[in-house]
Amino acid sequence: MMGVKGARALVCGGGGFIGGHLAKRLLDAGAASVRVVDIKPQSDWYQVHGETENLVLDLQDKDACFQATEGIDAVFQLAADMGGMGFIENNKALCMLSVLTNTHMLMAARANKVGRFFYSSSACVYNGDKQTNPDVVALKEEDAYPALPEDGYGWEKLFSERMCRHFREDYGLETRVARFHNVYGPEGTWQGGREKAPAAVCRKVLEAKHSGKHEIEIWGDGHQTRSFMYVDDCTKGILDIFSSDILEPINLGSSELVTINQLVDIAEDLAGVKLKRNYNLSAPKGVNGRNSDNTLIQKYLGWEPNIKLRDGLAKTMNWIEQQMLAGVTVK
Ligand code: NAD
Repeated sequence: MMGVKGARALVCGGGGFIGGHLAKRLLDAGAASVRVVDIKPQSDWYQVHGETENLVLDLQDKDACFQATEGIDAVFQLAADMGGMGFIENNKALCMLSVLTNTHMLMAARANKVGRFFYSSSACVYNGDKQTNPDVVALKEEDAYPALPEDGYGWEKLFSERMCRHFREDYGLETRVARFHNVYGPEGTWQGGREKAPAAVCRKVLEAKHSGKHEIEIWGDGHQTRSFMYVDDCTKGILDIFSSDILEPINLGSSELVTINQLVDIAEDLAGVKLKRNYNLSAPKGVNGRNSDNTLIQKYLGWEPNIKLRDGLAKTMNWIEQQMLAGVTVK
């Protein structure tokens, strides 16, 4: 079984949120070397680790994928044009163009005889009809079919999952796929339009606290339910899935379900403020309810999230507050 210790690893999209944390975890786990690739200029990466090889490449380009995978044993493909609901509902074509990255990365990994290829899929692949009620039944892996994923972003993820499967079956490239459910934490997007709910809520609550204008705009009616996974739980799960013999896409998410109103309650409590809530019913709000069924990952890997939402949100909020006070603007 292939692990990451001693492996020459590649993190695609490592200038981004999860990739930046993953590169650090790979170093800590004893990878022989870690190459990090992102399209953004290095000055915009959330984290730059001194011990990694850092390359700026556009992985939609096939030659760049060949360059990135040269001499690599373990690929972690996280590069994607993505963001929260506000972004993916308004940028469907852009989201779908990530199919170029996934296609070329798989072709290059096969040609360069990479040992194993991890792909970061998403809970957005799940059939929308199973997510209409805030009183959710947690999503099991089989609920992706019959296919009715999130338009644009979700279709691209589902298609790329299938490519991973067929590259494994037809060409023997060892692929592993995880479906991430809402990941949050420090060193990620918190402003500018691509941020997701936990970071957006932390930012809005902090803005209200610092401005003294004690109001908050909430997208939707606040009753939508979600689960949120802290980034350290996510990177641990990525390495566990990578090293496993789980061939089918598997959920990687928290099953601690909260409403958006409850998320705001926690953020208000952490910031020590109470805000008037203005609900924007015409803003993008995504499906009504979504949760991760963790039966399979618990059975195969004994994995479950360690970090409670309140604790993870406190760390995230601290980091966002530091960014705000330092006057950092969007990357
Ligand atoms: P992120 O936007 O912070 O990171 C993605 C990185 O990919 C960015 O730094 C971006 O510059 C880079 N990238 C985009 N196009 C590229 C290209 N053509 N070439 C090279 N780099 C490119 O996002 P994230 O939250 O870290 O997400 C990482 C992966 O996990 C993505 O594939 C995303 O779809 C998936 N995912 C994330 C979540 C979540 O809650 N954050 C949930 C489900 C799935």
